[in-house]
Amino acid sequence: MQTQILKDNPSDIAAAADIIKHGGLVAMPTETVYGLAADALNAEAVRNIFIAKGRAQDNPLIVHIAEWAQLPPLVMDIPQQAQQLAKAFWPGPLTMIFRKSPAVPDVVTCGMNTVAIRMPSHPVARALITQAGVPLAAPSANLSGGVSPVTAQHCIDDLTGRVDAIIDGGPCRVGLESTVILLCGTQPVLLRPGFVTKEQIEAVIGSIQVDDAVLHPLRDGVRPASPGMKYKHYAPKAKVVILNGGAQAYAQYVNQHAEPGVMALCFEEDLPNLQIPTLCYGRASDAASQATLLFDMLRRADEQGATLVYARMPDSHGVGLAVLNRLLRAAAFDVIQL
Ligand code: AMP
Ligand code: MG
Repeated sequence: MQTQILKDNPSDIAAAADIIKHGGLVAMPTETVYGLAADALNAEAVRNIFIAKGRAQDNPLIVHIAEWAQLPPLVMDIPQQAQQLAKAFWPGPLTMIFRKSPAVPDVVTCGMNTVAIRMPSHPVARALITQAGVPLAAPSANLSGGVSPVTAQHCIDDLTGRVDAIIDGGPCRVGLESTVILLCGTQPVLLRPGFVTKEQIEAVIGSIQVDDAVLHPLRDGVRPASPGMKYKHYAPKAKVVILNGGAQAYAQYVNQHAEPGVMALCFEEDLPNLQIPTLCYGRASDAASQATLLFDMLRRADEQGATLVYARMPDSHGVGLAVLNRLLRAAAFDVIQL
């Protein structure tokens, strides 16, 4: 398959919308990560997303809408808390899980009776949804198991020859996937942390639970509330080990383990103290900067031939919970206490 590289301009977005209307696949920029979009109401097109990514058949997709009016036909009901959260955070990087209506094909939800829905804020994603005239099912636009794409080049690297088009909308502002919250159970549960933080959500709807899978490996045989949590995720080819300790202990450990192929995934403040090749993922006290850079740096580790990456452990407050959640998966929960 020939993959067209499109630009962020009206005629290219119109061409991309046309591809979607004809059942094709388009990688699109969003504020979180690039998404691989198809018409969510076209089961055949959605099936092709799973094939293009090599995605497991039991890992459901998020449906993207541009207007509130697109929501009611997709869901059985809209809980009051969902209305409050939408008012506070939509359009933006928050996904909510609703009871699904029959209009949503089973292939989107992998047979679950719930559906994940998000209204992105990125102007290109919004224009594509509006012009295609349908909600778009869109997981991250990478090969399954690997690191999510935050630039068009990442999508090109993973999906050339596998999708109809890739729209280059520049680097993603947030850099991590959306926050996912379940609202159709007895109590709201945070299934995946993201740029919209637990604290921000609690300021709107009161206290919420955090799913065990956010910070802990799943025990054998446990079925996670969010099926995606059971897969090895966000992993570069290099082995990643997280070092939990202060700046000094980190520098000392890393410098003592200098060997060919070993790299430090560190904060800006660590740079002057390190004597091995570095990949810098933001400032120690600025989780948003870490979120923006983490996936790009994990991909660069592979590009630069790293075999072992020692990552400085991020703080777990606010956006930091999302950064830590992704890094723990990249490291297969391998953490050394310093
Ligand atoms: P991705 O598309 O790569 O951002 O992954 C989407 C995430 O949302 C995965 O972790 C899915 O398991 C999760 N998800 C999608 N739909 C549902 C649903 N109906 N219930 C629970 N989690 C869901
Ligand atoms: Mg993904």
